[in-house]
Amino acid sequence: MSIRHCASSLAAEAAGCGAPNGFNAGLWRLSRSDAGDAAEAPRGGPRPTTPTAAALEAARRGIPDLIADNIKSETFFWSVELIPGTTPLLRSLLDESLQHLARHRPAFASVTWHVDHLAVRGPDGPEQVEHPAMALSARLQDEHGIPALMHLAAGRMAKQHVHAVLQACLVAGVTNILALRGDYKVNADADFPHASDLVHFIRKNFGDKFKIGVAGYPSGHPDSKSREMNFVHLKEKVDAGADFILTQMVSSAEEFNLFKQECDNREIRIPIIPGLFLIESYKMFEKLIRTCNILVSKEILDAMKQIKDENKEREYGKCLFLNLVVDLMKLSSCPGAHIFSMNRVTTATKVLDEARIFHDAIE
Ligand SMILES: Cc1cc2nc3c(=O)[nH]c(=O)nc-3n(C[C@H](O)[C@H](O)[C@H](O)COP(=O)(O)OP(=O)(O)OC[C@H]3O[C@@H](n4cnc5c(N)ncnc54)[C@H](O)[C@@H]3O)c2cc1C
Repeated sequence: MSIRHCASSLAAEAAGCGAPNGFNAGLWRLSRSDAGDAAEAPRGGPRPTTPTAAALEAARRGIPDLIADNIKSETFFWSVELIPGTTPLLRSLLDESLQHLARHRPAFASVTWHVDHLAVRGPDGPEQVEHPAMALSARLQDEHGIPALMHLAAGRMAKQHVHAVLQACLVAGVTNILALRGDYKVNADADFPHASDLVHFIRKNFGDKFKIGVAGYPSGHPDSKSREMNFVHLKEKVDAGADFILTQMVSSAEEFNLFKQECDNREIRIPIIPGLFLIESYKMFEKLIRTCNILVSKEILDAMKQIKDENKEREYGKCLFLNLVVDLMKLSSCPGAHIFSMNRVTTATKVLDEARIFHDAIE
């Protein structure tokens, strides 16, 4: 059964589907010209778990350079979002995943930011601020050889704290930042009412020392007055100095391609990386939508709701995810895919592995 057929039949019948045996379209580090017909190929040799000096150095590269290299070599990359552990148990669970993740060699890992986890001990200065996202970003690079993209949601932060955080990031070698507002109401007199204010601030105070990503919303942002205003404000972030765009969850390659074209029509011409969820259950999906305020395809939500069987829901989510990866790989406009893993790193890599998406990257 093809993976495409698998997803559509599940949606229609809420029926089970087997492992994607017939699936052979996507290989990790696959040249685009091979997409769609790659034969099963032998895996590469074992990969070292301790990163080499060269890998550690490469881990500090700017994400726009990584994207450019992958575009040049026509290589579709994958990257992953991680949530820093805030308790000893969560930290140790994440540590196990990081070993695993490093062996799968994502292009980079992004690390989420929660404003409440910022510890400030004094008025300013890099030594005065601590945040689990900074600590994890530095460890990803220095211990695992994985380039980090640290999220920074500044809507509720004061300028001097943002400045201190950025200084601390420079000291730690964390120079890729996803500049965000944060998912909450922000007062009009806040220092950073919009993400574009943060991009301006970084460029004004730090020049080109940071590579800056910003969020994009292919299905619109819930607060946006209209679809057009969505693009107007996205362009403000780009004009302020953003280097690339990371999107909220996309549901189909068509949705991504349309968004990319709409951006292009408005002269938003920096790389755009689509965000993907690997949905494991209706309950998880529904909670995500509610808590993260995400606009998603009603068709997918309805199909998931009908299934009412956890195993089949997982299988359906897996099929949707793999279909989407393969469809995105076929688009020349799409350089790679960013997986919102919810720290289920092993699950995500296992799915890609089963489908041979990683091919030669795994031990
Ligand atoms: C890939 C990704 C990762 C994320 N990671 C995190 C995270 O780690 N931590 C976290 O707290 N949140 C995170 N978020 C959520 C994000 O903070 C929210 O989606 C938030 O609601 C908007 O953030 P933004 O940076 O897009 O804001 P903005 O770009 O400021 O946009 C927010 C809203 O304001 C509107 N707007 C922008 N500028 C103006 C203006 N000048 N005048 C009027 N309206 C304007 C926009 O159209 C939009 O509706 C993430 C989102 C994405 C897509």
